[in-house]
Amino acid sequence: MELLKQRILRDGRALNEHVLLVDSFLNHQVDVKLMKACGEEFARRFADAGATRIATIESSGIAPAAMTALAMDLPMVILKKSVSSILKDGIIQKEVFSFTKNAPYLLTLKTHFVTPGDRVLLIDDFLANGEAAFGGIALLEQAGAQIVGVGTVIAKTFQPGMDKLRAAGYRVEALAPVKGMSEGKIEF
Ligand code: 5GP
Repeated sequence: MELLKQRILRDGRALNEHVLLVDSFLNHQVDVKLMKACGEEFARRFADAGATRIATIESSGIAPAAMTALAMDLPMVILKKSVSSILKDGIIQKEVFSFTKNAPYLLTLKTHFVTPGDRVLLIDDFLANGEAAFGGIALLEQAGAQIVGVGTVIAKTFQPGMDKLRAAGYRVEALAPVKGMSEGKIEF
């Protein structure tokens, strides 16, 4: 997606070979118009997937996932990273290792929000090692859903997540696949 790639080149910053900072438009300050365009592009790419629900992981996946849900006219469910005291009944959890926090967290889903037989499109901001995506998939499948695709705004294709998901049989679409990075340099 050319518009997104241009924005990453203009405002993104490779901190090192592993981490890309995009907090001025994707995951801290959010360019909602750009997210709308991302949602429309996901809707176009997954138009034939027969999705019945969009799922995402809080918090950075919410903006692109909400725009995808809007474009596809589907309900959206957020997989939670922190559990509040009011979220107790009917929950399932999966431990996921966080790429950015370098620590595990418990991904949580209230099964009530996924109907067995749902065809779920999982949308997130980044795909790196695939931990978050595989954790989300495990919960959604445990709740009885079928995963019809994984859409990521940015995939760092030099990290193993994308290949691992595809090898496991999942359809993956990345709006901006990043081939390599070094300090101050980003290559698509
Ligand atoms: P994974 O679980 O695939 O290793 O990492 C995906 C999650 O880690 C994403 O949801 C995202 O929040 C975060 N993440 C991974 N790589 C980056 C990165 O280069 N920059 C930022 N800002 N977040 C990242």
